[in-house]
Amino acid sequence: MSNVTMPAVFFGHGSPVVAISDNDTSRGWAKLVASLQRPKAILAISAHWETRVTAVTAMARPKTIHDFGRSLPAALFDCQYPAPGDPALARRVAELLAPIPVALDEGQWGLDHGTWSVLVHAYPKADIPVVQLGLDVNLTPQQRFDIGARLSLLRDEGVLIVGTGNMVHNLRAMNWGDANCAPFEWAARFNDEMRRAIVDNEPERAIRFEALGQDTQLSLPSQEHFWPMLYVLGVRRPTDRVRLFNDRIEHGSLGMTSFIFEDAAEAKQAA
Ligand code: ZN
Repeated sequence: MSNVTMPAVFFGHGSPVVAISDNDTSRGWAKLVASLQRPKAILAISAHWETRVTAVTAMARPKTIHDFGRSLPAALFDCQYPAPGDPALARRVAELLAPIPVALDEGQWGLDHGTWSVLVHAYPKADIPVVQLGLDVNLTPQQRFDIGARLSLLRDEGVLIVGTGNMVHNLRAMNWGDANCAPFEWAARFNDEMRRAIVDNEPERAIRFEALGQDTQLSLPSQEHFWPMLYVLGVRRPTDRVRLFNDRIEHGSLGMTSFIFEDAAEAKQAA
């Protein structure tokens, strides 16, 4: 394991209901992961943990958090993702990010649905330790990218780094009744620009996403679902190749586009 370079993945996660669904999205996640080496641990950067300082879950047994409204199906509240934590990895993250202060969370948080709604499909056995990284709401896009770059070393230590959010996330504009309707024009333009930034390896275009003005405001009325992607862009290495998956916009304004960065040599071996 020590000489394998793990990939880094951004998952567009959508509604929590995906956790109890068997659909193209959940199958896309399972299929993607089936092509990867088994990680020693997972570091998950979830849109659903907003903090006032960069934080990591540091408990041995993180609880499953049901952080969504009561209107959702009861079966979702029964979901458990009992993966162990990894306190040593939490400390390693703090070490890599120093002198940026990192709070080691011993019990407040756990695994939120941004993480487990994906992992129940990607790693259903819940037997790989998971650490979550919290999103300091005060950071700039560039600082998020830089944190990703510092965490990139973990890829040589058997850690799979995943971001979980959405590239386009406007719940208010969503066409709830039709997942396959045509995307709104602003959503399509914003998503396209971000896809190009990723495929062309020009991360500064994603870091400057606010420059897209109204397209940004409509695509991201709040930004937390976009932030995890910036960390993952920072994790990228020059030797990586990129693959997009689940590349579509659902309900008009929910960008599911996901991507993986993987070491070109490893990817070739696996093929
Ligand atoms: Zn979400």
